[in-house]
Amino acid sequence: MLVLSQQRIKSFLRIVGIVILASVYYGTAELSRHVAATPQSVTPVWPPDGFASAAILIFGSQMLAGVLIGSFLANIWAFFNPENIYTALTSCAEVLGIAIGTTMGAWVGSYLLKRTIKGRNPLSKLSHVYRFLGLTGVLAPMINATIGVFCLCLGGSVIWSKFPSVWLTWWISNVAGICIFTPMLLSWHDFYIQNFHNKKSLSSQEWQDLQVIIRQKFPEAITLLLIVISISILAFYQSLNLEYILLPCLLWSVVRFGKVWATTLIVVITSIAVSGTVKGIGIFTVVNPSYSLASLQIFIIVIVVTTLSLNAVLSEKQQAIANLLHSRSRLVEKSIQLENSKSDLDKTTLILEQQNIALTEAKKVAEAANRTKSEFLSNMSHELRTPLNAILGIVQLLQDSTNMDIQEKRDIQTIHDSGNHLLNLIEDILDISKIEAGKMELYIKEVTLASFLRNLIEIIQIQANQKNIDFIYYFSPNLPPLIRTDGKRLRQILLNLLSNAVKFTNKGHVTFRVLSHQSAIAETVSDKSTVNLDFEIEDSGIGIATEQLEAIFLPFERVGESKFQVQGTGLGLAISQRLAKMMGSEITVTSEKGVGTTFRLSLMLEASRLSGTHPFNAYKSSPSVDLPVFDENLAQKLPLKILLAEDNIVNQKVACKILRRLGYTADIAENGLKVLEALDRQFYDVVLMDVQMPVMDGLEATRYIVTQLEPQKRPYIIAMTANVMESDRLACLASGMNDYLSKPVKVDLLINALWRSQHTVAPENF
Ligand code: ADP
Repeated sequence: MLVLSQQRIKSFLRIVGIVILASVYYGTAELSRHVAATPQSVTPVWPPDGFASAAILIFGSQMLAGVLIGSFLANIWAFFNPENIYTALTSCAEVLGIAIGTTMGAWVGSYLLKRTIKGRNPLSKLSHVYRFLGLTGVLAPMINATIGVFCLCLGGSVIWSKFPSVWLTWWISNVAGICIFTPMLLSWHDFYIQNFHNKKSLSSQEWQDLQVIIRQKFPEAITLLLIVISISILAFYQSLNLEYILLPCLLWSVVRFGKVWATTLIVVITSIAVSGTVKGIGIFTVVNPSYSLASLQIFIIVIVVTTLSLNAVLSEKQQAIANLLHSRSRLVEKSIQLENSKSDLDKTTLILEQQNIALTEAKKVAEAANRTKSEFLSNMSHELRTPLNAILGIVQLLQDSTNMDIQEKRDIQTIHDSGNHLLNLIEDILDISKIEAGKMELYIKEVTLASFLRNLIEIIQIQANQKNIDFIYYFSPNLPPLIRTDGKRLRQILLNLLSNAVKFTNKGHVTFRVLSHQSAIAETVSDKSTVNLDFEIEDSGIGIATEQLEAIFLPFERVGESKFQVQGTGLGLAISQRLAKMMGSEITVTSEKGVGTTFRLSLMLEASRLSGTHPFNAYKSSPSVDLPVFDENLAQKLPLKILLAEDNIVNQKVACKILRRLGYTADIAENGLKVLEALDRQFYDVVLMDVQMPVMDGLEATRYIVTQLEPQKRPYIIAMTANVMESDRLACLASGMNDYLSKPVKVDLLINALWRSQHTVAPENF
């Protein structure tokens, strides 16, 4: 319904528009004939076509009917011949032809213009202005004039010989009409669209702006209008040669008020000029009226072209300035955005810098805490080992004593075991702390696999014998003689797994298998290849519940009922697993409660292919029991002058006692300086050097000995210290010491070192 009524309104409005256009066309035509026609009935300017072109350019071809009707009405009174029916019909046909010509001209002119300027404003660009003048102003009237004059000639109103002159008059008056009136109407239409169309009411700001414009420009515009009217009257009624002053007035109008006022002034000027000239007065009037009209029409064309061109140039310039301003304001916006982003960035940078400072501080604090922790651990280890050295030293002496009954020997064994347990605990705690601080490092060296495994099975065999369980081992025959690994840490892992197997097995067996798979990517050129060694430790012990298989690798985790019955720290597997990971592998476990457990470790190692006698079948017999062996004749076999550098009195006593049991009498120096003094007095074969001592420590004393004493006067220096980190051992060797023993000192290791001082090895049965 709504659509229908809207369509009806539209149709109604279209009919109203057509009627108005027809009326305007007819009205202006009549006005022109009466006001602006020469006595010979020639109208130099034909405004109706100006209105028709404007209407079609603004409202489209739907207005063509208005042009047709208007043109028919405008001409019917002039050409209607009611003499008889024939003449009446002929004159009607003639007028209809003229009307059709006018309509066609207007349609072709506006259609071509709209196409070439693609529907944009015909007055806003210089190129558009020329297209408007060419197509709408010049071409369209040609069609109009040609068809119109042709019809007049056909109807007999004009004789054919007059065709060209009538055509010219017709065409020029049409051109003038369109050039004067169409731009003015288009300009006023633009003005309306820009300021009032689609605006219900002006905003207060717009209203204020309008008031300012009216207040400022209105008097000037009226003044200009009065000046233009005055000059026009003086020129076109009084024949004063002032018409050229109208040009600057039009320029003034364009510059100050734009196209609306300028085109309006053109209409004012041309109206006065035409009315004066057709009356035979004014500047353009000469004897020949045709020349008068030609001068008038040329003047009109000149002022129109100049004004419209100037207006177009100005509006192009204004558009360019507007674009520039728009770009500038966008640029300003962008730079403000950039500024904001920059300040945001600055803020973020500041925050980041602050966070960085805080992080650096936190890192420093953490590093300091870590250092403190490491120092604390190494001090604690040192301080615990010093008394342990005394305890275990004395215990070793007592174990060798003959005048003790069985109970006393058992008690001594208990002290020995507890001391050793304490020692293991200290070592485990140091290891786990080192691993967690990321300070544990692997020292990869060549390891002779045979002696490495022999050492392991000797230890485990003793433990297995003590528990009366079978210890079975199998080594695949293709094991490489030499492998490259951290022997100390691999031994630690395997000893832990094997000791656990024995510890948690009460009957049955423990089996140790080492299997080798030669790698497919073995290097054939060098003597080295990669070997995959599988270590497998299987027992028939108490087993582990499936849900506890993961927990056993966590520090201090001990599982099962046996945890309170069997000695242990709960650190062994945690350390072993982490060491295995450092070696690029992992310990895996399978277990069944009450049936047994199997631990596996698979390592990819570099192996040497150097062939040698296969050593692995040699270990069938049970090795000897691990009791300290004091060779009381050692001093006779290996006579040595020994200096003991030790500040702790208890440890002095223990070391002296052990040495005495071996047949040596050692001199004592309680610090490094005393060592130097003693060496100054006499030669010593061996110095047993503590590291931490007052006045001068062992490292400094050693450095002095190595650098200041002649080689033949230098003793063999054996570090005997409770500083047991790998870095401590390396520091001792770096200072120039020849050997290293950690406290608590084991007698057999001490004896070995003494033998080494004479560049020889201990005999097998020492
Ligand atoms: P510890 O042996 O000092 O207690 P570990 O870290 O070496 O510490 O072992 C952790 C726990 O794992 C042990 O307490 C024990 O409960 C379990 N476990 C380790 N090995 C075995 C095994 N072969 N058979 C049964 N339980 C085992």
